Order: sequence, then C-alpha cells, then structure tokens
Amino acid sequence: MVSAHDAWATPERRALRGLVADFTAREIVPHLDRWEDEGALPRSLHERAGDLGLLELGFPAAAGGAGDHVDSLLVTEQLILSGGSSGVCAGLFTHGIGVPHIAVAGDPDQIARFVRPALAGRAIASLGITEPDTGSDVAAITTRAERDGDDYVVTGAKTFITSGTRADFVTTAVRTGGPGHRGVSLLVIETDRPGVSRSRLRKMGWHCSDTAELRFDGVRVPAANLVGAEGTGFRQIMVNFGAERLSLAVQAYATAQRCVDLTLDWVRSRRTFGEPLARRQVVRHQVAEMAREATVARTYVRDVLARWQAGSPDTDVVTELAMAKNTAVAACDAVVDRAVQLHGGMGYMHGVEVERHYRDARILGIGGGTTEIMNEVVAGRLGLDG
Ligand SMILES: Cc1cc2nc3c(=O)[nH]c(=O)nc-3n(C[C@H](O)[C@H](O)[C@H](O)COP(=O)(O)OP(=O)(O)OC[C@H]3O[C@@H](n4cnc5c(N)ncnc54)[C@H](O)[C@@H]3O)c2cc1C
Repeated sequence: MVSAHDAWATPERRALRGLVADFTAREIVPHLDRWEDEGALPRSLHERAGDLGLLELGFPAAAGGAGDHVDSLLVTEQLILSGGSSGVCAGLFTHGIGVPHIAVAGDPDQIARFVRPALAGRAIASLGITEPDTGSDVAAITTRAERDGDDYVVTGAKTFITSGTRADFVTTAVRTGGPGHRGVSLLVIETDRPGVSRSRLRKMGWHCSDTAELRFDGVRVPAANLVGAEGTGFRQIMVNFGAERLSLAVQAYATAQRCVDLTLDWVRSRRTFGEPLARRQVVRHQVAEMAREATVARTYVRDVLARWQAGSPDTDVVTELAMAKNTAVAACDAVVDRAVQLHGGMGYMHGVEVERHYRDARILGIGGGTTEIMNEVVAGRLGLDG
C-alpha cells in the first residue's frame, strides 16, 4: 500500500514540485516585497498560474479541473517552501474557497460563467460568509436575498473578505428563508452590479492578500446565480470547510518548515562570542524542536488528507480535520516565534522573511474556523454536547 507520504513523491508530483519551485522563484519572490507594500497581487499572476495549470488542480474534470487535492495542496506547500508565503496562497488561490460549491452544485451555465474563468486565472473569485456581526456562527448570517420575479434583491454586508477588493464575483451566503441554517442559500454576486460597494481593510499580516468589507444595497441578482437549491447553502459551506481547513493546515506546516530552513541557514552563519550560533547546545535543541514540530504536523496533516480524500468510512475524518488544523497551527505558531527569536534584532526587521511569516501565521488559527471552533467540533464528537 502507498503511504500518505509516498503519494506526494510520485514522478509526476516531483515534476509538479519543480514547476512550482521555478514559478515561485521567477514570478513571485522578486516581486513579493512590492506586492506586500501595494496590498494586493496583480491579475497577471493569476493568468500566469492559470496558464501553467496550477489553479485547476483538485477540481472535477467536468468543471474544467484536473488532478486531486494532493496535487493542489502540494502546490500550496511548495510555493511556501520556495520563498512564497501563506499570504500569496490566500490571494492567488481564493478561487479554492470561492468556486468549489459552484463546481459541484452549479449548473453548466454557472460553471461556464464562473468556474472555468477562475480556474483559467481570467476571473477572480471570493467567498462571502462572514458579516460584521457574525463570524463563527455561520447559521446566524443576516444578509437578506428577497425573491422578486426572476431576480433576488440583496441587502446586507460582508467583512474580512479575501480578494474582495479585486474580485469579479463573490459566492455569497444569503438568507432566503427563515432563521437558522435551513434559511441560508449561496448566491453568486458579480461585483459590478449596481448597489455593490467595497472598501479595503488594513491588517497585521497577509499584506499582499487584499481584504475587503462589501456592502450590498438593494443589489438585483438574477435567480440564475443561485448555487444549488434554496436552503442548501449552509450544508454546501460546511462540506467545503474541509478543503479550506486542510489548505490552512498545509500553509501552517509549510510555513513552519520554511522557517526551520531559514533558521538553519542563519544559525550556521551568525557568530557570537567567537562561534556560530549552531554550536550552542541551547540553540541546537531549539532548532531540533522546531524541526520536530514541523515534521509531526506535516506527517499528520498528510495522513488525514489521504483518508479524507479516500472518503474513508471507518474513520471520523471530520473530527481529525479539526485536530489536524489545530496541530499544524500550534506547530507553526511555536516555530515562527522561535525563528524570530533566534534571528535576534534581525528577526524583527521589516523585509526579513521570518518577520513576514511571523505576522502572516497569526491568521491561520482564526480563518476557516478558529482554533476554539475546531475544539468545539472535537468536543462534540467526543460526546460532550449532551
Ligand atoms: C485575513 C482574514 C481573511 C478572511 N477571509 C475571509 C473570507 O474570504 N471569507 C469569509 O467569509 N470570511 C473571511 N474571514 C473571516 C474569518 O473566517 C472569521 O474572522 C472567523 O471565522 C472568526 O469569526 P469572527 O472574526 O467573527 O470571530 P468570532 O466568531 O466573533 O469569535 C471571536 C472569538 O471567540 C471565539 N468563539 C466564538 N464562538 C465560540 C464558542 N462557541 N466557543 C468558544 N469560543 C468561541 C473565537 O474562537 C474567537 O476567538 C477572514 C478573516 C481574516 C482576518
């Protein structure tokens, strides 16, 4: 039997790794500091990634996709290991949270209008769930979509929306029915419709990934943009949280590993009191601990991914997805902190890579379901709900 690890090292996937390493070295690393300052990625990066086939991985072939989730997450992992960042992944791969629902539940017209252009890097997609008054409690959203003839009329606001200032369309959680999760639907809202306004939000990290607050003021949206049936939005969102949580877990362990690699170089070259830092036992043991944490996180996340993708019937994979995200985030938090510490004052300097990873990492335990919500999932499966 092929282990979860070996599956990441087939000849085809080694070639894919090489392609991503080259793409990152040429098209991302030389420009990343500028994009961080500008607060967004250029559209041309999406087009280039689309042309290389990097955006379609993990999507069904019927919707223009190819490969599987190991392929798409290998791209995420290698992009970070090669000097990219979780912020680049957030901005470049927003379609990974914005269009999976449409790829699965959308009709051929929606797939042609929204999914295929996003996978080709010709359209930018966002996912709009969070509202100013509602984050973790998805079933409590209040953005209203009232049916009026062949249209819905949408009124409400979304916040913290990744790629929201650049998005061509937003797959939006709206309330079409009564209170609770059964009243939630998914509606694709093009951002050039009258009544849509957006403003950029500034934040601690992920500077190259733009984040927006969106307002919908009586926006008319064709009913043809409803994804799946009315009232199925909550379920669709929950199903797709699995892939989002795995992606964030991969970003976390890859960021940790990248910081291990950067710290190894640093402690070999930095000399204090006449010796390289790497000679001090206290330093060596810290780096050993960092490597252990990154390795354990990678091994566990890959294992859970393999069982989740196989649809393993004998394992409670949903619970383990939550455990995997928390494991990888905890490893990342510990490693980025030590990496900055071991770099000394240099680790605090803007433009030094570990400093960026330290800031970027802080969102990984908040987005896609917070660490506390992950623990609620686990606690529920342990029978603590009642
Ligand atoms: C950079 C960034 C990008 C984002 N991108 C997107 C996006 O593209 N689309 C989108 O829809 N959203 C996005 N989000 C929103 C993100 O998903 C939410 O911030 C997250 O789900 C938490 O919701 P909240 O901020 O409302 O916090 P709250 O739900 O208000 O939680 C606040 C605190 O209370 C804790 N808490 C909440 N409920 C419980 C409970 N029952 N038990 C114990 N503790 C609890 C939380 O864990 C947290 O620590 C993004 C956020 C950021 C910062």
